[in-house]
Amino acid sequence: MNKSSFADYHVSEEIKRALDVLRYETPTEVQRQVIPLALENQDLVVKAQTGSGKTASFGIPVADLVNWEEKNPQALILTPTRELAVQVREDMTNIGRFKRIKAVAVYGKEPFTKQKDELKQKTHVVVGTPGRVMDHIERETLVLDQIKYLIIDEADEMLNRGFIDDVEAIIKELPTDRVTMVFSATLPKDIENLCHAYMNNPTHIEIESNGITAETIEHYLIEGREEEKLSLLKNITVVDNPDSCLIFCRTKENVDTVYSELEQSGYPCEKLHGGLEQEDRFAVMEGFKLGNFRYLIATDVAARGIDVDNVNLVINYDVPMEKESYVHRTGRTGRAGNKGKAITLSTPSEEKFVKSIERYIGFEIPTIEAPSHSEVADRQAAFDEKMSNSRRVVRNNKTARINQDIMKLHFSGGKKKKIRAVDFVGTIAKIPGVTADDIGIITILDHLSYVDILNGKGSLVLQAMENATIKGKKLKVSKAIK
Ligand code: AMP
Repeated sequence: MNKSSFADYHVSEEIKRALDVLRYETPTEVQRQVIPLALENQDLVVKAQTGSGKTASFGIPVADLVNWEEKNPQALILTPTRELAVQVREDMTNIGRFKRIKAVAVYGKEPFTKQKDELKQKTHVVVGTPGRVMDHIERETLVLDQIKYLIIDEADEMLNRGFIDDVEAIIKELPTDRVTMVFSATLPKDIENLCHAYMNNPTHIEIESNGITAETIEHYLIEGREEEKLSLLKNITVVDNPDSCLIFCRTKENVDTVYSELEQSGYPCEKLHGGLEQEDRFAVMEGFKLGNFRYLIATDVAARGIDVDNVNLVINYDVPMEKESYVHRTGRTGRAGNKGKAITLSTPSEEKFVKSIERYIGFEIPTIEAPSHSEVADRQAAFDEKMSNSRRVVRNNKTARINQDIMKLHFSGGKKKKIRAVDFVGTIAKIPGVTADDIGIITILDHLSYVDILNGKGSLVLQAMENATIKGKKLKVSKAIK
């Protein structure tokens, strides 16, 4: 059962090819345990932390098992936050890229109609937050009768955020002959009850609570008084001089204060908290992933699931009040085999939270001295030099790599001209040097359509289609902007 390479799994070549491009060579522990059972359609309750590779542990089997021909959604993935929904959608799309899996994310604060239009298209996987998923169910814009896989991701956080009743209401709407997988860092009683009530003899899998975290992250505590924290923070950044750093605060107000201070001091930084518009939140996250700035100051909205390549340093400007939150915050660094460092600033009144965190993670966080004046002075020049470089190098942008050979084409006609996906496939696959395997996701709207062309054949298809007709109709074709 314990496989040590993805090549050993019975998943299709298209999925293996995507894993290759994503540079997933060896399955992580959670993947080793989950994938074989999920491929056999077993119900699973998995206790695993973020950062362990859990998304791919359900993403790989789901992408492999869904039937491409089916128009209605076959997998529903529930996540507690919008950020995580978007992240999981991206992971599913990447893993399913060469099988042309279409994953749609639905979450609040984005226009309902946009999502409704997306859901009208062929959709294999829907990822969403419970409230908005329920809205779509109630308004009958999400068809559930083909759902064969339900994944509840970060179930404990669903509970913390008060979404568990919504989750239960959604479960009651789903076909009962489905596979259910629940992922959670902890398994509180309410989650266990839910699993017991709605799952079919699930197999329990437990991944060591510290897993990857303990081995790849150095944890430190620095004690100080509240009024010293801003200068302490700056000194740490000078001495550590990280390429990429996430600073967590407990409140929006603290995020604003720290952000203003660093921004005024010339740090390449941005901030993220729940008070910002959703669009801005996504733009900031995207900018951080792309390496457009090096310091992100955030509340816990950025603590979960967010997959940024190679954050070297996490600083807890405030000690998190919830112990789980410490694991999520620090789990932003030391990911996927990289080394990371987490420094927590602690004031005397926060000691009790530190103790509770230490009990939870199972080890004492070593206390170190604040950087001395001479250390700061010694490192200042190197720090200033890096400051002049506001960007950081992104070494492993998986999505960019998997999309690099893809060109999205825009056609000036769609449903109103009675054009269907097969019409595009029929025409494009006849172009010399092009086969149906070179055609990716096709999206047909009322008056326009998008077709992804894979394997670097975009220009060839673009040129050929300038003179071709589809279903006897001449459509304008161009490279899509997005
Ligand atoms: P997750 O726990 O799903 O948030 O994943 C943690 C990180 O590990 C993400 O950056 C994944 O893309 C990456 N990852 C997942 N599985 C593998 C693997 N088998 N090999 C290398 N990286 C992986």
